[in-house]
Amino acid sequence: MDPSSSQPAIETSGLTKRFGDRTAVDGVDLCVPRGSAFGFLGPNGAGKTTMIRMLLGLTHASAGQMLVLGHPVPAERGTALQRVGAIVEDPRFHPYLSGRENLRIVAAIRGPESTARIAPALARVGLSDRADEKVKRYSLGMRQRLGVARCLLADPLLLILDEPTNGLDPGGIQEFREMIRAMVEQEGRTVFISSHLLDEVEKICDAAAIVDRGKVVTQGPIAELAEGEARHELIIGVDDPRRAITLLDGAEQVREAHLSDEGLRVVLAGGPETAAAVNARLVSAGLAVTRLEPVRHSLEQRFLEITSRLDAAPDEVRA
Ligand code: ATP
Repeated sequence: MDPSSSQPAIETSGLTKRFGDRTAVDGVDLCVPRGSAFGFLGPNGAGKTTMIRMLLGLTHASAGQMLVLGHPVPAERGTALQRVGAIVEDPRFHPYLSGRENLRIVAAIRGPESTARIAPALARVGLSDRADEKVKRYSLGMRQRLGVARCLLADPLLLILDEPTNGLDPGGIQEFREMIRAMVEQEGRTVFISSHLLDEVEKICDAAAIVDRGKVVTQGPIAELAEGEARHELIIGVDDPRRAITLLDGAEQVREAHLSDEGLRVVLAGGPETAAAVNARLVSAGLAVTRLEPVRHSLEQRFLEITSRLDAAPDEVRA
């Protein structure tokens, strides 16, 4: 077995790209596990496209290393990219040829295995019925899907898609999401998706890195990113909330307690296990606790927290 097949799909360390005195990608350490959908999430100008261009060997890194499917880029770019399919900008096709004819041209260059993959690729992206129409009649969503079908001609282990749902309507986004999930779950491929849409990453991806101004702020499984670092909060239903606040204010397990629309909201000073001590304190003071529920942080809240923190402390970020 090829030893590189057990390595992450993408691994970078200290990856940096400078344009003059602007640092577009700044010391990025990224690890994208195999067989997952991984989101590279950041606002406009965060450095996502530049990162992807480096991974594909389209532009040189100023510093750092990267391995794609276990092979160093650019040293072994040819081998690394043999099983990679990528869409970096809007996929371009010959508009007066059909979708199938466009794929035939690409497959003819690649070889007979690729030609045999045309029909399954069209089926996978849901274009079998429309494959013989001219591409100029395709919607943007259909062109995006044809772009993915073109990637599939290489039977890729890794697909790299730069902002793939840009410009798609909600129906198109939903179809795209289902297609990506099927490629990951049924075919075991790895899909790396850059996006500025939090909701999209949360719905499609298993794991993500949040990037801002060229730096990866945090990365990991979606659920962990949403939880944040050490902020554990509870919503507590209690018969006398004001008395509860007095009891909890100043308690060593509690960082902050206040009333919200949903009830008493408590930020714990420790981990989730501290909730039991908070409950015991209320109950032993004779209060009736009717609800004690951890607050789930969505990735969106977390993303906004991170980016606004970065805005507030630019010197810290650049240091
Ligand atoms: P978007 O979502 O807007 O495409 P992005 O996250 O893909 O953003 P990049 O396109 O990678 O961001 O750009 C990152 C930074 O690098 C930006 O400040 C951009 O202006 C700068 N940049 C990108 N390419 C070049 C270049 N060829 N020359 C100079 N600066 C560049």
